[in-house]
Amino acid sequence: MSAPNSLRCLARPSAIIPRSLTSAPWIAAPFSTSAPSLAKAETRKGVMPGGHVRSGKKMQLGKFKKNAVRQGKSPLPGERKAYRKRIQLSNSNALPVPGLEDVRPADMVDENKIGRVMSIPGLVLDQLRDVEAFKPTQYWGMFRTPSTLLRAETVDLARRMQNAADKKDMLRLVISGERLTGKSLLLLQSLTYAFMNDWVVIHIPEAQELTTACTEYAPIPETDPMQYMQNNYCLRLLQGIRKANERVLSRLTCAHSHTDLPQNIPVNSTLLQLTNSAKEPEGAWLVFQALWKELMSQTATRPPVLLALDGLAHIMRVSDYMSPSFEPVHSQDLALVRLFCDALSGKSTLRNGGAIIGATSRGNTPRSPSMELSLTQRLAEQAGEEAPKHPPYAKGFDPRSEEALKSVRVVDLKGISKPEARGLMEYWAASGVFRAACDEKTVTRSWTLGGHGVVGEMERASLQTLRP
Ligand code: ATP
Ligand code: MG
Repeated sequence: MSAPNSLRCLARPSAIIPRSLTSAPWIAAPFSTSAPSLAKAETRKGVMPGGHVRSGKKMQLGKFKKNAVRQGKSPLPGERKAYRKRIQLSNSNALPVPGLEDVRPADMVDENKIGRVMSIPGLVLDQLRDVEAFKPTQYWGMFRTPSTLLRAETVDLARRMQNAADKKDMLRLVISGERLTGKSLLLLQSLTYAFMNDWVVIHIPEAQELTTACTEYAPIPETDPMQYMQNNYCLRLLQGIRKANERVLSRLTCAHSHTDLPQNIPVNSTLLQLTNSAKEPEGAWLVFQALWKELMSQTATRPPVLLALDGLAHIMRVSDYMSPSFEPVHSQDLALVRLFCDALSGKSTLRNGGAIIGATSRGNTPRSPSMELSLTQRLAEQAGEEAPKHPPYAKGFDPRSEEALKSVRVVDLKGISKPEARGLMEYWAASGVFRAACDEKTVTRSWTLGGHGVVGEMERASLQTLRP
């Protein structure tokens, strides 16, 4: 501590050096060999000449960003999203699995096939792709060909669909369950069954696209209470329906003439021509309505219809859209959602039989107390137990959603059984993505680590490290 004081004392040039000489720059630093270096030391960052410490340099947000040199080409608009959402359905590095068979309609209703992994036939694969049935979160890209495990719930659901088609009845069902239990995959299996049996399939892959105000909407004239059409979404949906159901739609003919559409569709035109008439978003909702009317008309040749939707909670609440008077719009005032909910509640019927299936999702979902309560009530009723009552003072409940779910059948998906887990893991091992021997001990370990057979968790525990 004494050094700076003594240096300061000695540094008084006037004490020892004549004033005329002190103006020379090098004299300011008496014990230094170089005057400029001392001057630099005195004014060094953060230390004031009087010895005070100045506050440090404050970082300003974005300052460094501005000056940073950009290297490489930045991605084009939408490129990042496309990369995030890309779906790879096969992996040529995975081993072909000997004895892996294509699933046939009869396999899906055969209980002897429970626990077997079967691949999706090529034609159906294209159809599933057209209706966006595959999700980027699923593990398709690890295996040679897209294949699924036939579980007990798959066979049960396929049998119910078969019954509905035979009796020209209507299956109204909601697939519920914990996260990653395979709800979307069970929905995909129901689509597979419908495609293989020549049903007309309409699939809404992400309900949130309809209700989170990310697609255009417009009021439908002369509706009270006001309903809204979503022409852009309808056009995309129609394009998917046309591609996926081309074979069936080209065989069916119109029972009515449709003169109010963008293109005049006379009687006996094919339903494919009717679907094709939507070329622009304007009029897409009208074309969808006309197609629905045709599918519902009672003629001997009409096939059953499957109307499926994933992410049910998004339509069981008030949407993010606003009305012209700036009131929030209920999801069920969006015409397409209303069509689905009316069919799910049984208010409208599928004249030629078919199924309305909704799947909940735990990945990205809004809170819907009404949906949760209704599904719990339905499950209790199915089990012959007393259904929980509506909490009298609780807020946030939505009577319209409860109405839509008041009489549906609910499938509560849980983990797969150990024999099913063994079938699935043997398939992983045969594909070369699971290296350990597939014995009782390994299966039990994976099954337990995966939260008692939750398929997605089992995949995470056993395959995550190999995922591309
Ligand atoms: P979330 O609640 O997040 O929507 P989820 O219940 O819809 O999840 P899925 O996406 O259907 O879960 O499945 C989770 C994972 O489990 C996927 O990677 C899927 O491939 C796998 N999986 C589920 N069921 C099966 C099955 N029957 N055969 C093969 N894999 C399956
Ligand atoms: Mg899902």
